[in-house]
Amino acid sequence: MATFTRDEHIFRDEDMLRDDYQPDSITARESELSSYQTALQPVINGAQPRNIFLYGKTGVGKTAVSRYILEQLQYDSNQYDDVSLSVFWLNCTNLSSSYQVAVNLVNTLRPDDDQISTTGYPQQRVFDLLYSELDAIGGTVLIVLDEIDHIGNDDEILYEIPRARSNGYLTETKPGVIGISNDFGFRDDLSPKVKDTLCEEEIHFSPYNAPELEAILERRAEGALYEDATESGVLSLCAAIAAQDSGSARQALDLLYQAGELARAAKREQINEDDVHAARNKLERSQVEHGMRELTRHGHLSLVAVLHLALESAGPFRVRDIYPRYRTIAEQSDIDPLVRRRMHDHLADLAMLGILDRHSRNEGRSGGQYYEYEFAVDLDLVANVVSDFEGLILPRRVVELTQSIE
Ligand code: ADP
Ligand code: MG
Repeated sequence: MATFTRDEHIFRDEDMLRDDYQPDSITARESELSSYQTALQPVINGAQPRNIFLYGKTGVGKTAVSRYILEQLQYDSNQYDDVSLSVFWLNCTNLSSSYQVAVNLVNTLRPDDDQISTTGYPQQRVFDLLYSELDAIGGTVLIVLDEIDHIGNDDEILYEIPRARSNGYLTETKPGVIGISNDFGFRDDLSPKVKDTLCEEEIHFSPYNAPELEAILERRAEGALYEDATESGVLSLCAAIAAQDSGSARQALDLLYQAGELARAAKREQINEDDVHAARNKLERSQVEHGMRELTRHGHLSLVAVLHLALESAGPFRVRDIYPRYRTIAEQSDIDPLVRRRMHDHLADLAMLGILDRHSRNEGRSGGQYYEYEFAVDLDLVANVVSDFEGLILPRRVVELTQSIE
């Protein structure tokens, strides 16, 4: 019979290592916090808020710092009777247009029993609904659009909300937008009028270095782990790996959490450096696996084509060898194959995801240049993922491999 007893080693409060945990203090972001505070100062003065744009890679504290400072702002604004501040937060991860953002904002502002449908309204109608919800609130309204880069080029909303008051759509409410983006390119590609309005104040979050990550980990480990839960060197190893790879605090925390789980599973009382290395492998594997699953159908076909070749010889493989395999598997699966150049784009994507290695070669005297590809990850891992693809007729050798590892 299984019996459960509470952990007495390793984790004191493992939820503190989860991604959605909001730390009650921020480490190593003094200058960003200070720029943020300056940009928000008009709010406390009861003036029209500035629009703020935050950008930086994933895991560098954009969301955590925003939550922290906006909570502080709300708390401090309560001291002033003539400041009424409301903050609304929308994560745009699954939203791909200004229209969808506007609909979701309307629904964020409305009570649960009065939601609007996510389709079917003309765009202007949705904006009108949004303005009337916003104006009904009054005072200062800050709207945080996190992960806003998912809307791509369809960025009208980033112009509409900041300009709503000067365009006469709002009289009671002073709106401000805080846009947060993981993608530098998104800022550059914003339409010029949006850039002028939204990017009044820009705050750039750079990747963390190893000492900064270690400081963040130490702070978090104080609550999350029991004293003595880590052998010496463990936190700095997590910090060093993450600093070298991404500069992401999320990666550093994930490493520590995963290493802790491995130590717990092995019923040890301390996390050691081997756990961290093993955690790193495990996380990398699951990331690659996730990358493979998320590919489009033609990405899947290209992957199977390279796998089929790799089961016959060591590689690397040229596109002219991969393409016929791809075509055959596509046709057997009743899918229209892409032209060679388009399939090559999928190979390039696989290389970008770290699933394939890509080398460029020169064709001797004729002067042409071509690419070669081979797997950067274990074939077993690939086969494992590939066996779950639906609607593909896999070559016999690939099927045999998937069966042999089950
Ligand atoms: P981003 O929004 O830039 O992708 P997050 O703000 O979600 O990154 O940060 C990722 C994780 O790292 C979260 O768990 C967050 O609490 C933590 N974190 C990031 N920066 C700091 C920091 N300066 N101090 C404390 N914790 C941090
Ligand atoms: Mg974030």
